[in-house]
Amino acid sequence: MKKNIILAIGNELVEGIIVDTNSKYIANKLLEHGYKTIMTKTLPDDLEILVTEIKNSLETSDLLITTGGLGPTKDDITREAVSLAIDKKLIPDQKLVEKITAKAKKYYKEVPDIVKKQGQVIEGAIVLENPVGTAPGQIINFGTKTILILPGPPAELYPIFNEALKYIKKDSPIYTRRVKTLGIPEAVIVEKYKNIIFSNKKITVATMASYKSGVELRFTGDISLKKEIDKIVEKLLKEIGDFIYALDEKSIEEVVFEKLLESNKTVSFTESCTGGLVSSSFVNIPGVSKVFKGSVVAYSNEIKETILNVKKETLINFGAVSKECVKEMAKGVAEKFSTDYSLAISGIAGPTGGTKEKPIGTVWICAYDRKNNEYIVQKYLFKGTRETIRYRSTLYAFDTLRRLIK
Ligand code: ATP
Ligand code: MG
Repeated sequence: MKKNIILAIGNELVEGIIVDTNSKYIANKLLEHGYKTIMTKTLPDDLEILVTEIKNSLETSDLLITTGGLGPTKDDITREAVSLAIDKKLIPDQKLVEKITAKAKKYYKEVPDIVKKQGQVIEGAIVLENPVGTAPGQIINFGTKTILILPGPPAELYPIFNEALKYIKKDSPIYTRRVKTLGIPEAVIVEKYKNIIFSNKKITVATMASYKSGVELRFTGDISLKKEIDKIVEKLLKEIGDFIYALDEKSIEEVVFEKLLESNKTVSFTESCTGGLVSSSFVNIPGVSKVFKGSVVAYSNEIKETILNVKKETLINFGAVSKECVKEMAKGVAEKFSTDYSLAISGIAGPTGGTKEKPIGTVWICAYDRKNNEYIVQKYLFKGTRETIRYRSTLYAFDTLRRLIK
């Protein structure tokens, strides 16, 4: 597998004003191209630092990618830094300067001279046109190495990078499998199943935990390791299959959507603490109207009672955040909307409102199957901020429904 390094350039990155999302995008795409990103760095707009880092990076990688610093202003010095590091001239390309000036006329009454700086090309470079902004990308072959320089703004970088891939020789294909889980903490999975997960040193294992998607394991290796990687996934399916919701890029919402679609069933939601987040996540999926009828954000007890027919005694005896209440909510909305399934969520998202019996993060989730009058009701205690508690509730709500739909 070939190696690459990404240098994300810009003071605002180093100072923590913006987050480097370019490297994430590039590293992901390059993996499919047979390149392993061995290092990503954020660097300031400092010529001396850039030249040193470019030189060093070229020693350990086959491909070096820089992002940012291609604009017209004084702090945009990436072209210059690369040219100094590899000792190649920076030459103004007259045609390119004309093109850039013509483009820039859209933004300036009178195009300032400094804009023309963007028409400077490193000796021998292939110029990659910028379909969005003005500064083009450049590919330079330097001995056995390749350097790719890209502009900073993501909307400009994406199309240029995808064009650049055509010029970068694909390395031997790699093989990747993903295992997306919910319900077991990351540390528990990797400890308990380490003999399976780390059974082959040649297979790269990445584990990612997110409150928006659960714990994902990703196995990557040379195509010759396909059988080995498949075997790991099979073993995990055997051991923790119940907690695995996808073996591809699908989100839990998409998994639920497809299950409903396949079985020609409909669903409705009623949400208290998530305040519409479950519905909103679901309608992110195009075509969801085929299975989703609607939802009730039942934030107050009054709405739970009058719209969803939750009994007054239930609310008095057990409270709104209770097993009894979410069961009645789920039944109420499924009947009101005449859907096959429903979901109800009621909890305490904080930062106030917690009690000893019901601390912040207590969330009751109920998935209901109207025809069979079956319920899955579960209590969770989520940790985190108001936001993370609401996202976790949403995630587990969909997972509860996934388990209910046969
Ligand atoms: P410009 O012509 O816009 O100046 P540039 O190539 O010089 O383009 P920068 O000046 O480094 O790029 O960055 C411009 C903007 O692009 C930043 O303010 C930021 O919003 C975005 N950006 C730059 N680098 C990154 C990055 N690594 N990840 C995400 N966004 C970035
Ligand atoms: Mg700039």
